[in-house]
Amino acid sequence: MTDTIQLFEEFERAGVEVCLAHHVELCAEPESRLLRHILASFAQFEREMIASRIAETRAYLKKHGRRLAGPAPYGYDADPITKQLVPNRAEARRVRAIFKRAVTGQTPAEIDHLGWRTKQWVSKRSGRPIGGGRWTARQVLALLRNPVYLGKFAAGDSIRPGCHEPIVDLGTFESAQEQLDRRRPTSKSDRHRLPFPLRGKLICPRCQRRLCTYTFTRRQGKTTIGYRYYRCRSTAGGRAPCKGVQYPAYEIEEAVRQALADRRTWQAMIDTGAGLMTDRADLLTAVWTGLDIPTQDRLLAQIVESIALSRRKTEMQITFAEDFEDTLIPVISGLADDAR
Ligand SMILES: [Zn+2]
Repeated sequence: MTDTIQLFEEFERAGVEVCLAHHVELCAEPESRLLRHILASFAQFEREMIASRIAETRAYLKKHGRRLAGPAPYGYDADPITKQLVPNRAEARRVRAIFKRAVTGQTPAEIDHLGWRTKQWVSKRSGRPIGGGRWTARQVLALLRNPVYLGKFAAGDSIRPGCHEPIVDLGTFESAQEQLDRRRPTSKSDRHRLPFPLRGKLICPRCQRRLCTYTFTRRQGKTTIGYRYYRCRSTAGGRAPCKGVQYPAYEIEEAVRQALADRRTWQAMIDTGAGLMTDRADLLTAVWTGLDIPTQDRLLAQIVESIALSRRKTEMQITFAEDFEDTLIPVISGLADDAR
């Protein structure tokens, strides 16, 4: 559909008059413009249909304890037919070994010296292998915090039920969490730590240094309300922070989410990539608008490298992470599988 519109537009730019042999009545200029508009509306409708179908599928899968998207986590394989998780024996044994070490008080940094490799899979679209590197402390920590090993799924900050077989028992999982929590600094500011999907990514329009995050909380009756900001507080390079450079976090994050609901942003991103996603701008736009905000935020943190803000706050230049395709391909192919 989009191709047809582009074709019509190119004809118009080139001054070529298109005459449809079967619809001579549509060949005069106003009629052909009408036809183009109708086609464009259909293309828009089609995109919205895809987005809403994806959103509906996700809601259904969540309600029924199913997996949503992406590659299977370490310890599991995806069943080729149902797409749901089934334990991978060799990996599951290692997952249990990692938890055992954590329970005895080993830190993720100590556990990562096992010499094992992370899961490797082949990208469906590019045929390139992804993963398979050495475990990092961060990956070990993520594994230990993942409720998937209890037969559940992480859903934003909470947990939803799953229907796959657990790999560790609740007692082991909880002891591991206790050990991890014990090591975590519990300063006041840390306990009220709020999520910032654009942490370390926004660039100050005046000094070009990265903006810091800033929160304060206020009690209002029985509830505590957290306020989040991005602001220039850097003293890097011996320069004082810029006065008055402070943005309410939600406003900026929403603007970025909106920018990604625009096909042109994805097209620009694709143009910087390795060519794995040519012609996928429509699909990516549809997929993005069908995702819930926690998922969008998680992806933002991964696919965006930096965002340069303009002084007048009206424009932003988004630079994407070099490996954004590796992040997105599993998401898209997972969604396409689920939607089928
Ligand atoms: Zn600054």
